Amino acid sequence: MKDTLEEQLTDIPSPPVPGAALQELLPPLTEHEAAVESARCLMCFDAPCTHACPTHIDIPKFIKKISTGNLLGSGRTILESNLLGATCARVCPVQELCEGACVLGAEHKPIAIGRLQRHVMDHIYGKKRDIFQAGRSTGKRVAIVGSGPAGLSCAGELAKLGHGVTLYERRSLAGGLSTYGIIVLREPVEVALAEVAMVRRLGVRLETGKDVGVDPSVANLQKNFDAVFLSVGLGSTPELGIPGEEFILDGLQYIEASKHQPSQLRVGRNVVVIGAGNTAIDCATIARRLGAERVTMVYRRSEHEMTAYAHEYDFVKREGVHVWFLAQPVKVHHENGVVRGLECVRISLGEPDSSGRPAPKPIAGSSVLLPADQIVKAIGQNRPSLASRLGLETEKGFIRVNDEFETSSPGIFAGGDCIRAKGSASTVMAVQDGKLAARSIHQRLVHYG
Ligand SMILES: Cc1cc2nc3c(=O)[nH]c(=O)nc-3n(C[C@H](O)[C@H](O)[C@H](O)COP(=O)(O)OP(=O)(O)OC[C@H]3O[C@@H](n4cnc5c(N)ncnc54)[C@H](O)[C@@H]3O)c2cc1C
Ligand code: SF4
Repeated sequence: MKDTLEEQLTDIPSPPVPGAALQELLPPLTEHEAAVESARCLMCFDAPCTHACPTHIDIPKFIKKISTGNLLGSGRTILESNLLGATCARVCPVQELCEGACVLGAEHKPIAIGRLQRHVMDHIYGKKRDIFQAGRSTGKRVAIVGSGPAGLSCAGELAKLGHGVTLYERRSLAGGLSTYGIIVLREPVEVALAEVAMVRRLGVRLETGKDVGVDPSVANLQKNFDAVFLSVGLGSTPELGIPGEEFILDGLQYIEASKHQPSQLRVGRNVVVIGAGNTAIDCATIARRLGAERVTMVYRRSEHEMTAYAHEYDFVKREGVHVWFLAQPVKVHHENGVVRGLECVRISLGEPDSSGRPAPKPIAGSSVLLPADQIVKAIGQNRPSLASRLGLETEKGFIRVNDEFETSSPGIFAGGDCIRAKGSASTVMAVQDGKLAARSIHQRLVHYG
């Protein structure tokens, strides 16, 4: 096995790879590779990798159990801290978290913690083994709104504690961005859906196609349940407000189509992606892998300010994607709706703005036309609209919660991306929120009725 992700990625052939373009990027470890890798772990006392994991999985303990062949026990150790261990094994930015903290990283290669975790989770789901069962009924009922990682984690933890949980989801499939937003190269849809099925086997009732706030109302949920947890994620992609914007494709929908209807997704030959965060990187990767000859990301600030992880940026450059910094889109050029290019102005960076980053200042007379036959917009997501509709207190547009994950409305709790006013949003943070919120809700229901 090549030890680091870097080494493995250099082995991946340049896209497009006919028929294999949209498959999971990294292969699973073999039994032998997992045994060799787990034997390298020093089993550190007070392990820094565990501290660095937002869900605090006891990493040396689960690795030790791999090395002794106890994969079920290893799975239990992972799932006790993180019910969505299979998703997190694939999507976590491990370079920034557990593997980044591994003591072996300084002079040797960090332990491949993510891939070992995936090895264990694949075993558990492959064997169709349920590690946990529903707890003895408390008679209490909790409604959860949104079935992404935060909602699933909260639902599963509450079910383990014996509460009756109903999970409301407005889409036709549960799983949130794990099902619809994370590219197949990182996480196949089946992995997300297997975790949804596991949570349902804990007795959680799933109601898809239910847009809470429309039908049913939150007031209705408050009447019929003992507590409500909002895990609604974020909204749609914001508007750029430039002429011709109606001919720009939405990045989230672009990724969703690549996951659920790849044969229906028309990818241009010369694609421009607006944005430089992780979603933009994913859109650019999809475009390259589905055959675009040239893909250019356009970002109005510099490399220093881009929000994508450094390893993702390195990856997309190796995919052959160009990044054009300090350029701001001002107009889409098209002929009867057929996109011809994106006009941009060059930018100089000024004093920090309200986001704390240098304010982009257009340079007069610096317009450049970037030829393109397809433009995709990946500039983040709008704040959760349900917050204002319910009159909840917010912080920078995100739902404000206290240390118990309770909103300004008593009995309504919230977690995941919809409360992430600080720090970067990630799946593992959402899972941790769901777990901690479940504990708070449990305390409230059991001890204070
Ligand atoms: C393109 C993209 C790629 C990403 N890649 C990574 C990655 O590689 N690694 C990583 O750690 N993180 C990644 N993230 C971030 C990660 O996906 C999120 O942090 C995580 O999914 C947040 O979970 P959540 O449960 O809070 O919200 P979501 O996953 O957004 O789930 C919210 C759910 O609530 C539902 N909902 C919303 N409103 C209602 C309503 N009124 N009624 C009923 N249901 C409702 C939605 O349909 C959705 O299913 C990525 C995000 C994007 C957009
Ligand atoms: S820091 Fe590295 S070597 Fe130490 S326990 Fe964690 S994975 Fe093992």
